[in-house]
Amino acid sequence: MSAPAIASLLPPQLHVFVRDWLSANNILLKSRDGHVLIDSGYVRHAPLTLALLASARGLGGAPLAFLVNTHCHSDHVGGNAAIVRRYGCPVAVPAAEALLVERWDGKALLYDYCDQQIERFAVDHVLPADTTHVWGDLEWQALAAPGHDMGALVFYNAEHGVLISGDALWEHGFGFVMPPEVDPEALPATSATIEMLAALEIRIVIPGHGEPFTDIAAALDRARKRIVAFEADSLRVARHALKVNLMFSLLDRQRIPLDEMPAYVARVGIYRDFNALFFRLPPARLAEFLTTELVKSGAARIAAGALVPAVGKTR
Ligand SMILES: [Zn+2]
Repeated sequence: MSAPAIASLLPPQLHVFVRDWLSANNILLKSRDGHVLIDSGYVRHAPLTLALLASARGLGGAPLAFLVNTHCHSDHVGGNAAIVRRYGCPVAVPAAEALLVERWDGKALLYDYCDQQIERFAVDHVLPADTTHVWGDLEWQALAAPGHDMGALVFYNAEHGVLISGDALWEHGFGFVMPPEVDPEALPATSATIEMLAALEIRIVIPGHGEPFTDIAAALDRARKRIVAFEADSLRVARHALKVNLMFSLLDRQRIPLDEMPAYVARVGIYRDFNALFFRLPPARLAEFLTTELVKSGAARIAAGALVPAVGKTR
């Protein structure tokens, strides 16, 4: 089904701003009772998030009543502070993450630990799992979706079969997962979340990244296959996590000089810790390995002595 055909399946008060890998999609739920936004993108793209929100397809000149986050990773909450400054609205995060945000735990939330930028924001409301909320005149169940993020929520509207999945389920996979040696709960939780979603009647998924999609069975199948492959090989889980993180930072920075890479992987927490746990390579070798992997995958290339994204600028 084409993107416009899929968009036509959505209730008219629900608007999706499809972003990219650096900024999570923004979902606007409009209602006379107050407009609600789910997820705010990455901090570097906050000006674009504000522009989309203020556009005719967004709020126009109307106020924003409430900002909700599926989880608190930097690509989902990076626009929170700017949106609060502009609209003065309260912010709600999953209950399981509120304490981490309050104490600004840059390791647990993967901020400085993964070399991700973020502007600090305050939590006004917490959203416990298994609660129901009316946003955009639609009833949404907040469901615990641990795995990629152990405190994450997804939001499900049974009437229309719409799932706002964050990074728990994408059309091709899900957000990277911690290896069992780092968090023994993460992979089992990922699997349980996929089976929880499989039991719902879903017609359309609005993922945290990528276009909304309707072939739910195929997406669940791909997710299950990835979990099986991960369960068989925790080194593969670790490699995947580092590659995804490096690609994210590369999209953020746009350029990492090759001669700075060894010091980078020795300094940034996730590379340093994973190297000690899994790879035990000299930093220069780990840097070379990750660089080669990203180039081989087609995600990055080398230009003028630096690693750069293979595609142009990101949205
Ligand atoms: Zn994300």
